[in-house]
Amino acid sequence: MKKKFISVWKDPVWSKVISAAILGLVVYIWSLVEGISFEEKIVQIYNIKISIIYVVILTFLILIVVSLYNFFTKPKTTLSRTAKLRKFNKFKYININILVRWRVGMGVGSVPYIDNVDLFCSLHNPPIKLMYGVCPVDNCTNNQLELSLKSVENDIESRVREEWDKINDL
Ligand SMILES: [Zn+2]
Repeated sequence: MKKKFISVWKDPVWSKVISAAILGLVVYIWSLVEGISFEEKIVQIYNIKISIIYVVILTFLILIVVSLYNFFTKPKTTLSRTAKLRKFNKFKYININILVRWRVGMGVGSVPYIDNVDLFCSLHNPPIKLMYGVCPVDNCTNNQLELSLKSVENDIESRVREEWDKINDL
């Protein structure tokens, strides 16, 4: 499509036709804005000997302004909001050196939920995944850990729901 457009644009005859069409449209809109006829506008333009380049520049400026406007006013789709929420997939409990990773799912009625919750001991690099709720490294302080997976899941899910509200500006 782009290639085709460029080849048409480079064609000496077609480029003139397209230029004329763009110019014609610009002049027509201009005449509408000023409330005069198309012919009157043509005469007016001829009389002030306006350079064609200005009309072309004006056309491009209008196109740029319109595309910028569309870009910035485009509403965020549910899909992009969900994608943003999915990026919130880890949290570190600094006081107990535990890193939690999870996966965000989207339930019925756009209510997010979490699964695949894994806990890691962040005292190591890379953090080591807990086994049977404790750090598998013998001399680690997290080796004698009493942590309820259910309360961690509940805390993380609450944070995810809070994040979802923030993304939705609620
Ligand atoms: Zn550890």
